[in-house]
Amino acid sequence: MAWRTGQNPNCGSNIPRRGWIGRPHGNLTSRQEDIVLSKSVLALAFSLPLSLSLFVTEAIAAQAASSGPPADGKLEQIIPGHYVYSTGARISGIIATSEGVVVLDSLSNEAMARHERQLIAETIRQPVRYLISGTHHGNYAYGNVAYQDAIRIGHENYKTDLLAEMKMNNMPTAQQAAILPHLTFRDRMTITLGGKGIQVLYIGRGHTRGNAIVFVPQDRIVYLSELFFDKRFPFMADGYADWIGTIDNALKLDADIFVPGQGPSSIASNPRMSREALVKARQVLVDYRDAVQREVARGATEDQAVAAVLLPQYRDMVGYYEQRPVVVRRMYQGLKGTRP
Ligand SMILES: [Zn+2]
Repeated sequence: MAWRTGQNPNCGSNIPRRGWIGRPHGNLTSRQEDIVLSKSVLALAFSLPLSLSLFVTEAIAAQAASSGPPADGKLEQIIPGHYVYSTGARISGIIATSEGVVVLDSLSNEAMARHERQLIAETIRQPVRYLISGTHHGNYAYGNVAYQDAIRIGHENYKTDLLAEMKMNNMPTAQQAAILPHLTFRDRMTITLGGKGIQVLYIGRGHTRGNAIVFVPQDRIVYLSELFFDKRFPFMADGYADWIGTIDNALKLDADIFVPGQGPSSIASNPRMSREALVKARQVLVDYRDAVQREVARGATEDQAVAAVLLPQYRDMVGYYEQRPVVVRRMYQGLKGTRP
């Protein structure tokens, strides 16, 4: 599709394209609707070949040191037991329990992921047991290489699309294996850790077709990864008009705090305002959908819709100028049914 030319599906990151060859990964995949992970599965993850881990780690270290955004994020508490690691733009969720930590999104590269893990080790002082990936985009998943000692989890579509992206980048097989999930799910998965029920949920298409979210009912907090762009214009290069209904599904969860995956966000300093912030993020999508719908109704072509639907009230949002045409095109294609 011509309109994708120049668009970076990795949400503004600078993931280098490299000349590597890869093939599919053979890790365990479960298609059960509800999975409770046991300690035996945990032990499996900890028995991963150390030699492979070190090989991959060293191979990526040089790349991470020479490319990508700097690892200068900070770790902040939202409420007791819940934290974010934020670079100002990208936000990784952190759930701390008495038996270990669950991380949502490894972010862009090994250096960034290791910096987050260093801060977790210094502040929370618990090992990371699970890494859940909310999106297959490299700027949220390529840091997975720093989680060789944790169980990596993602949605079925996340794994499919991540594998396709890594193959497109000609990434070597060993590196693909270090990034791909050990476990996938379709609808939901429950992790019990330190007496805490941690639900990994799929609530519909949005920023991609494989976004996972994490809900901790007992603490009334939900981590939305890249389904929630807080004060940032939505990136829709791989997105769907269904995103609006998916946010509606999130808002129906019995939660008070909605943690974004994209900022700038005041989630750590003002978590009680996060529902309102999510409603605002939803409204951006609604306004574009409705404006595009009016263009479709009057017979506009896709290019005419791009020219007509500006909504300048959003032009001060980060990403407006680059991403507005993408959002209009995705909405147009969704409303016309020209995109599966
Ligand atoms: Zn993304």
